[in-house]
Amino acid sequence: MTELFILLLIVLVVSIGIYYPGWRQKRILKKPFPDQWQSIIDQRLPFFQKLTASEQVQLKDMVKLFIAGKTFYGCDGLEMNDEIRVTIAAEACLLLLNRKTGIYSRLKHILVYPYAFRANHDQHGPDGTVASGERGLLGESWHYGKIILSWDDVEKGIRNFQDGQNVVLHEFSHQLDSESGSANGAPILHSNSYTTWANILSKEFEELNKDFTHHHKSVMDYYGATDPAEFFAVATETFFEKPAKLREKHPELFEVLRKYYALNPADWQ
Ligand SMILES: [Zn+2]
Repeated sequence: MTELFILLLIVLVVSIGIYYPGWRQKRILKKPFPDQWQSIIDQRLPFFQKLTASEQVQLKDMVKLFIAGKTFYGCDGLEMNDEIRVTIAAEACLLLLNRKTGIYSRLKHILVYPYAFRANHDQHGPDGTVASGERGLLGESWHYGKIILSWDDVEKGIRNFQDGQNVVLHEFSHQLDSESGSANGAPILHSNSYTTWANILSKEFEELNKDFTHHHKSVMDYYGATDPAEFFAVATETFFEKPAKLREKHPELFEVLRKYYALNPADWQ
């Protein structure tokens, strides 16, 4: 009798483990998208109107799951609210549209500071210099479960969605990069071959380094010349915010990113 009871208990625990996440997800998706969240998106996120109707539905579903699945923390006196949650979630989920992917499944915690925050560790610059000690940061992505953002800079990023500077797109592309096991500029690929990706991104990375050394103008921020991981993050910001320029100057890079992100922001402008 005791053995039967233990067996039933095991079956029950295993079933909950298997079915609970799917059941919870369905319950979250069934709830209507709150009107207040919709007005935040309409007022703050200009890219939303450019998406197709089906992409808008996808994005809103992802935002619901994102907000239900991650914990947001206001740091240094910042009071957490839906404006912050929805803005960050919608920009983060823009990177996931039209793709078979989880919603940053490793990421659990999002820490938001009112302004650039202080961090005490080394920073490697594109010229090979290393700045050590305390410095101000706009954002930071950790491999295991955490992202830190400055709200002031998140707001700057959405106020100007055309300057190639967007801390949310930057940090969340680092998260995608680290899903492959290491942050090295190569996320998990479905629609590009790894060889093509590696060839094009290393060639473009070298080119950006040359532009930086010779003080040539570049469509991408020189911070991308720091290392391959930063190159992918900066390329992502440029792809979404300066797509026409990127396509004109770096057509191969634009094309691999268009395939990867399954979107064409050049059509939005
Ligand atoms: Zn970075």
